[in-house]
Amino acid sequence: MRKRILMALLCGALVCLPLAGCNTGNNSNTSDSAQSEASASTETKTTNNKNSNQEYTDEVFAMDTYMTLTAYGENAQEAVEAGIAEIQRLDDLLSTGKETSEVAQINQNGGGVLSEDTEYLVKRALDIYQSTNGAFDISIYPVMQLWGFTTGNFAVPGESDLAAKLALVDAGKITLSEENGQTSINLPEGMEIDLGGIAKGYTSGRVMEVMKSYGIESAVINLGGNAHVLGNKTDGSQWKVGIQDPNDTDGYLGGVNVTDKAIITSGGYERYFIDKDTGVKYHHIIDPKTGYSANNGLISVTIVSADSTLADGLSTSLFVLGTKDAISYCKEHCAADGFDAIMEDEDGKLYITDGVYDDFINMNNTKNIEKIVTK
Ligand code: ADP
Ligand code: MG
Repeated sequence: MRKRILMALLCGALVCLPLAGCNTGNNSNTSDSAQSEASASTETKTTNNKNSNQEYTDEVFAMDTYMTLTAYGENAQEAVEAGIAEIQRLDDLLSTGKETSEVAQINQNGGGVLSEDTEYLVKRALDIYQSTNGAFDISIYPVMQLWGFTTGNFAVPGESDLAAKLALVDAGKITLSEENGQTSINLPEGMEIDLGGIAKGYTSGRVMEVMKSYGIESAVINLGGNAHVLGNKTDGSQWKVGIQDPNDTDGYLGGVNVTDKAIITSGGYERYFIDKDTGVKYHHIIDPKTGYSANNGLISVTIVSADSTLADGLSTSLFVLGTKDAISYCKEHCAADGFDAIMEDEDGKLYITDGVYDDFINMNNTKNIEKIVTK
């Protein structure tokens, strides 16, 4: 009961993540509460009167998840509709599971000419592969398939099967070539790529660009637990975004005050199965060093950055790197690359980098917090 009340209070105060955990399902016109709860609604569609504070919310199922978009301003409806069209365009291009997508075609043919979006994403992914010493590896797809994460037919693979698939994984062997102003990708025999660890971040950034082109200055989108906010709320105050508690997905480990940022979380609770024979839980973030679910001390990694592609790539990467290496990575890269991190380890300790430390909303009064100095 107490928890229900707490949830209600938090849902009133925060942009709730993920959608399912906080379905208030109501939409009032332009009130502050409508704004705060904008991304919490899973089933409603709102159209309000045309005025400069007009709010419009809609949702779409794409990239295997529910996505909610809310914009404020005169062209809110047009902006949200164009944002959804952009999501569908990118879903058709980037989803490995769609046979006709560009990425699926590349996998089938061992390479091909890259479109502008895919070229950008592959290059960003390869940069992150380099900077994380291979913790982020888009060639992980054959291993994802073997575990059944791509189909839902989950199974713990045998050692030799896993070793055979793991031998195909090394994004360092991907080559790109330029000819007549076009970039082509070439994959070694048997390699397949999967942009699932970075595509939603890129997508939210693209949606914000589309919304801005409609004159929108205030918006919030939630792509299956990945939040991205444009500007501030229409009352000028910052957005408050809740970060899901990895141990209790109805609750929050905390929140963060943000303006113009993506807030992207990776955790082992998002997609997993439990092996009936052993009771062991296996989740969808794979450590390319072992082929098994990453299990290096962190249970949740949130990256806060204006660069949503980076935020998505790094949330997955730092989760794989684990506590010690993720902290070292932050010390070396946060200030230079423009991101911050809020991470929880398996003992419930929080690690928060200095750039976002004062913006953290410690709603659970967590005492065990370490400030990571990066500047
Ligand atoms: P989600 O997409 O569930 O929000 P992530 O951004 O962490 O969470 O991405 C997880 C996805 O990234 C997996 O479903 C898979 O497609 C891909 N992936 C898994 N392990 C890795 C890895 N080590 N490097 C790059 N991509 C990965
Ligand atoms: Mg990611």
